[in-house]
Amino acid sequence: MEHAEGALVAVAVPGPLDRLLDYRVPEGGVATGAVVEVPLGPRRMTGVVWGPGAGGFDAAKIRSLGRVLEAPPLREELRQFLDRAAAYTLTPLPAMVRLALRAPGIGAPPALRKIYRRGARDPDRMTEARGRVLATLAEYGGAALTLGELAAAAGVSTGVVKGLVAQGALDEVEAPRDLPYPALDPDRPGKALSPDQAAAAERLRAALAVDGYGTTLLKGVTGSGKTEVYLEAVAECLRRSRQALVLLPEIALTAEFLARVEQRFGARPAEWHSGITQTERRRLWHMVAEGAAGLVVGARSALFLPFRDLGLIVVDEEHDASYKQEDGVLYNARDMAVLRAAMAGARVVLASATPCLESWANAEAGKYDRIDLPARFGAAEMPQMRAVDMREERLPADRWIGTVMAAEVAVRLERGEQSLLFLNRRGYAPVTICRACGHQIGCEHCDARMVEHRFQKRLVCHQCGETKPMPEVCPSCGVADRLAPVGPGVERLGEEVAARFPEARVAVLSSDLFASARALKAKVEEIAAGAADIVIGTQLVAKGHNFPLLTLVGVIDADLGLQGSDLRAAERTFQLMRQVAGRAGRGERPGLALLQTYQPDHPVIRAILGGDEEAFWRAEAEERRAAGMPPYGRLAGIILSSPDMKAAYDLGQALARGDAPLRRIGAQVFGPAPAPIARVRGRHRVRLLVKADKAAPLQAALADWVGQVKPPANLRLTIDIDPQSFF
Ligand code: ADP
Ligand code: ZN
Repeated sequence: MEHAEGALVAVAVPGPLDRLLDYRVPEGGVATGAVVEVPLGPRRMTGVVWGPGAGGFDAAKIRSLGRVLEAPPLREELRQFLDRAAAYTLTPLPAMVRLALRAPGIGAPPALRKIYRRGARDPDRMTEARGRVLATLAEYGGAALTLGELAAAAGVSTGVVKGLVAQGALDEVEAPRDLPYPALDPDRPGKALSPDQAAAAERLRAALAVDGYGTTLLKGVTGSGKTEVYLEAVAECLRRSRQALVLLPEIALTAEFLARVEQRFGARPAEWHSGITQTERRRLWHMVAEGAAGLVVGARSALFLPFRDLGLIVVDEEHDASYKQEDGVLYNARDMAVLRAAMAGARVVLASATPCLESWANAEAGKYDRIDLPARFGAAEMPQMRAVDMREERLPADRWIGTVMAAEVAVRLERGEQSLLFLNRRGYAPVTICRACGHQIGCEHCDARMVEHRFQKRLVCHQCGETKPMPEVCPSCGVADRLAPVGPGVERLGEEVAARFPEARVAVLSSDLFASARALKAKVEEIAAGAADIVIGTQLVAKGHNFPLLTLVGVIDADLGLQGSDLRAAERTFQLMRQVAGRAGRGERPGLALLQTYQPDHPVIRAILGGDEEAFWRAEAEERRAAGMPPYGRLAGIILSSPDMKAAYDLGQALARGDAPLRRIGAQVFGPAPAPIARVRGRHRVRLLVKADKAAPLQAALADWVGQVKPPANLRLTIDIDPQSFF
């Protein structure tokens, strides 16, 4: 053992304290990385031995470690990753370690169950039923079947199995309940690849043949077969007996993906996301650590699993904003995937039709390898894209579908094809106004207007989730029946569609209209099979679903993302529009994408229509470079939140005054200013923004800087490195 009895060790204990804690090693010693139980105050917590203790504490007060749990120790690669991720995001290490221990009963001894193996003797008398049991056992090999499972698989009663045990033809043995995952077979024949796809797959295979870290940007238009191609990289990784991880942005997507994996490799991969059971979580954590799960498909938190030998991480739809964790530990799963791979000596594949500017620039600079799939697979072609100039449509105030759009929808209805009308606004109407006094109904806890959800007959705050019944009288002037909706949400658009196309089957796809991800997924499958003529959807539909009958995508308000001061507004709008348009014409028939806009000459709209993506990226990159903005400079956001507005401002001002540690590295600080949404859940929010050169040691300077102040109780200080959103 590395640490002998009596020595001091530092332990990372996810809990209230931000630093490592020293404990004394008990009899038997302990290894670095071991998962241990430790006493903390009156409680017993789970922690990880991180290294030799720091000492310097009162020796008499140092307590002894509890027992070493039966979990596999965290390997050096994972520990290094957690150390580096903590340092990068300025997260206390114990909070980072928590992400790696998020499975219940990690240290509990594995539950046992009885399974059956072939015994030493033959049965005295062979019956047909007994023969089937033995044949089933031979067929399933090491699959560790229980009494019930074995009897069912053989089609006999449990009595037959017990009879064989009594005769010594079967042995009953105790085996761990956590079973290994079925092996995936990389050598089953995959789909026949097109020449472009085959060349891309070959390059990825070659990259995997070289052990060691590297990242490839796989950029291909929607429907070009990126998934088929990266599954070949997974196959190569499995052939090399290393483990692969595929990250997906959306749970609703995984069912289709799991089926594709099964088709390709003959078995399902392990799944890791918020929807799996606690038992499954525990099983997966252990099996991944033992190398008994070859492929894991998961949400961003799967990055923190204790892989035994990780050889490949695929980040699908790498531009997706949901890869940025905006709660608790703030990290970007795309960047952390690259970091983990660098520690593990693994390959990263970032797949997207519309990569984020960071990845594009890294490829441009030669840091990432880049593979392009410029054409759709087979007969499918990219949709035609056209703008509709809404200045010429002269729509009445309560209508949003112009005549050009309506005519195209009518043509699709006639031909039995599907149309998708896209509007990135949940609910019925974004604003409710009183026609008597002009009051707009707002949230009591946030600086946000409440959104009417007519389906639920309630007003909802999209910031904090607060809801209340739709009032009958104005809360401000008390006049009845004068409250009116202003502007469209998907529900209201649904009404317009129903009124204009009474014969059409209309489906509204918005996350809040479904009780569960499962219900939403079922609906999506029905629609893909043709159960609706007109689909109305929020950004949910932009995420990779396949609708073969869809030939028209109508963007109701293409200008929606163009306003606002967000650094990434242009990039986001560009990605979203290209993704949504990518839903059209994935089957045999060509698609059309129509963008309703009041600014047809806006550079982003023109870039979307023009199809010269590289020109868009280059122009966007130039602007960011000139402004010293990411990816050519670095940003960090500081958010101070408190029920007491003055306290938050005072601390913000103290930080702004004490900016010497930042000036030393040439960084600038802006603010304090009210955050764009200045109040959320009753807490006032003040933000500062720090801007530095790309090469400046930003984290160390930030740590020195915020270390100068001591936030009062009830004031939260959050540091967001590489902020994505600015609220
Ligand atoms: P992307 O991930 O780039 O959007 P997919 O890999 O999902 O593209 O492919 C789009 C569709 O085309 C899928 O239904 C897929 O099964 C099909 N496809 C792609 N390549 C092939 C191929 N070589 N042979 C058969 N079908 C393919
Ligand atoms: Zn609110």
